[in-house]
Amino acid sequence: MPFVLRIALPVPLPTLFDYLPPANGTASAGSRVLVPFGRNKSVGVVVQVNVPAQVGNAKLKRVLRVLDDAPLLDAELMQTLAWAADYWLGAPGEAYANALPLLLREDKPLPETQEPIWQLTIAGRSALDAGSRRGSSRVLLQTLLAAPLSAAELDTSLPDWRPAARRLADADLIERGEPAPAPNFFPHAPKLALHTEQETAIAAVTEAFGRFQPFLLDGITGSGKTEVYLSLIERTLAQGKQTLLLVPEIGLAPQTVRRLRERLGVPVEVLHSNLAEGERARAWLRMRAGEAKVVLGTRSAVFTPLPHAGLIIVDEEHDGAYKQQEGFRYHARDLALVRARALQVPVLLGSATPSLESLANVEAGRYRALHLRSRPAATHPPQVQIIDMRAQRLEHGLSPALLHAVGETIARGEQVLVFRNRRGYAPVLLCHHCGWHAECPRCEHPLTLHAAWRKLVCHHCDLQAPAPPSCPACGGQDLKPQGQGTERLEEALTAHFQQVPVLRIDRETTRRRDAFEQLLGSLAEDAPAILVGTQMLAKGHDLPNLTLVAIVGVDEGLLSVDFRAGERLAQLTVQVAGRAGRARKPGRVLLQTHHPDHPLLHTLLAQGYAAAAKTLLAERRQTRLPPYGHQVLLRCDAHQRAAVDAFLAEACAALPAGDALQIAGPMPAPMPLRAGRQRGQLLIESASRRDLHAAVRPWSVQLAQLPSARKVRWSLDVDPIDLY
Ligand code: ADP
Ligand code: ZN
Ligand code: ZN
Repeated sequence: MPFVLRIALPVPLPTLFDYLPPANGTASAGSRVLVPFGRNKSVGVVVQVNVPAQVGNAKLKRVLRVLDDAPLLDAELMQTLAWAADYWLGAPGEAYANALPLLLREDKPLPETQEPIWQLTIAGRSALDAGSRRGSSRVLLQTLLAAPLSAAELDTSLPDWRPAARRLADADLIERGEPAPAPNFFPHAPKLALHTEQETAIAAVTEAFGRFQPFLLDGITGSGKTEVYLSLIERTLAQGKQTLLLVPEIGLAPQTVRRLRERLGVPVEVLHSNLAEGERARAWLRMRAGEAKVVLGTRSAVFTPLPHAGLIIVDEEHDGAYKQQEGFRYHARDLALVRARALQVPVLLGSATPSLESLANVEAGRYRALHLRSRPAATHPPQVQIIDMRAQRLEHGLSPALLHAVGETIARGEQVLVFRNRRGYAPVLLCHHCGWHAECPRCEHPLTLHAAWRKLVCHHCDLQAPAPPSCPACGGQDLKPQGQGTERLEEALTAHFQQVPVLRIDRETTRRRDAFEQLLGSLAEDAPAILVGTQMLAKGHDLPNLTLVAIVGVDEGLLSVDFRAGERLAQLTVQVAGRAGRARKPGRVLLQTHHPDHPLLHTLLAQGYAAAAKTLLAERRQTRLPPYGHQVLLRCDAHQRAAVDAFLAEACAALPAGDALQIAGPMPAPMPLRAGRQRGQLLIESASRRDLHAAVRPWSVQLAQLPSARKVRWSLDVDPIDLY
């Protein structure tokens, strides 16, 4: 048997690939290599070196070229990725690919960690003075005279700069240079005197520096969690160590970045999916080189190299955005814990509404809980009240009591937030004459009416159709929008309260990159206003003059079949409510519902999130649902229902016999049809994670070989966070 390199290639197959070592150079584990793959070439990551080949000599191909002299992924990341691929039953190649910024998955030299800049030469200055260049060349010379710029900056300010740059560089009028050293940051934000609970939390984590210890920082919104993070990052920096800070959404990032930069006095790297690829790769490489010390990022930033790791923080740890829902389905919070253990550093999970998983880990003694119970800046906790909607005359879904409270609040010159977690004008368009309603033919679900666009939109598959002027079934003119989305609430509130601006914040109004920040920023003057929006409003920006939060339409969450719906409803309600009364003015929260006696709402409002979570946990324990039971979900879809059924039947039959596993299904998915594809699933549960993995691991490899697998799309989801 020849000795080979075992390589991860970015393909959705459950295997690594063997190649003969390159003719020149040596590759080590963690280096990228270029290999022939099928009829093409592919960039892979060397996972093992010098292993006996699993296939015969004749089939083996040779590595074409080694791209990295030194491993790009260090031993800790390699080990973590191998663990992750195994745990989430992912294709190993996709796990490794996920860890690398897109630019580093290509056969190109690594970019410099600092982007080079273009500047004028002395000859260039003379040429400009002499006026010897015209047109685009002259414009470029003038631009660079004002300030040397990087290619990325030029791409935005002078889109067609490249041909001119080539001409000018050939004539030695401009040249590439090193960027000026990053400006010296001086911390200039004043330091707050920390209160006792903050001191206690900081002391506990500091004491754990240098070893693995998970903490759950459980503190209501506005209780000063971010201040705790800042202090801990300062202490980590003082030891010359790196911090990874994960946040669930990019919308949160700008304000946090500003706060970090003002306080820490060091550059803060930001990694999120909206970043230009070059920037992303460079930030990643600066962390790898140890040049950068603090990185703030969303889910995929959990793969950032941390050669001098000191601390990992996961903010809003309960947030579902940490779970990747396609391709390699990992959970960034859970991976953060695995990395912290490998790196021997403390990991701090923060939330006002911790996940039931993390609370169970505290209960089991695996995490240490730290509490922040008071709000330093606010004098009173918000007052919460239920509005019973039954038998009320509603105005576009808004009750008189709610409208009255809104009116009072703006009359006092304060701001109101109306929360509704549904975009569009109305979720259903109904014919009052014959009962027809607009439905997506590809999903068999009602289409949402978007009035401003005059369109019907499917929120499941994005199908769009013009809104019909009359009923397509009976020709009647009596088409009525049913229910309310944010667009309709905006319209109703605008009509009712004409003296104040009504701002809508949802995915439509914030499509542009900075629109969210700008919309909220426009409220900074504290003038009275009404905000209407979806869960995007649950966090971000502090609005000190926001004193009333009205939550309308949470009833869907009370009635859902998903066992996590109650947990999500409680979290969202508390998060949104937390926006009220963050400064000195007292806050008020109204919750409008048709189910005022629902036990979950009662516990939540009377006793708070911790009590509600405790009840939910007790239910989960009794029903052996996560976190007390463990789940793997096999999802499958195809054009033909028969293909789905055949695959799931074969998959089910291939599961090992025994009573360690409970199997639900095969069954149709909760949404049996989506975007024209039939969907089905098989849920495998066990009280023991070990038993579950032991059974499912070999089975996942077998699935790919089932004859019926070729006619369907399928995927495995370990610890699914929803069953859709
Ligand atoms: P969280 O992250 O828990 O929502 P923050 O850290 O953002 O809370 O703090 C909420 C507000 O209280 C911020 O305006 C912050 O500046 C302020 N704050 C935090 N800690 C203190 C403190 N010890 N003294 C005074 N104000 C504080
Ligand atoms: Zn009709
Ligand atoms: Zn659809």
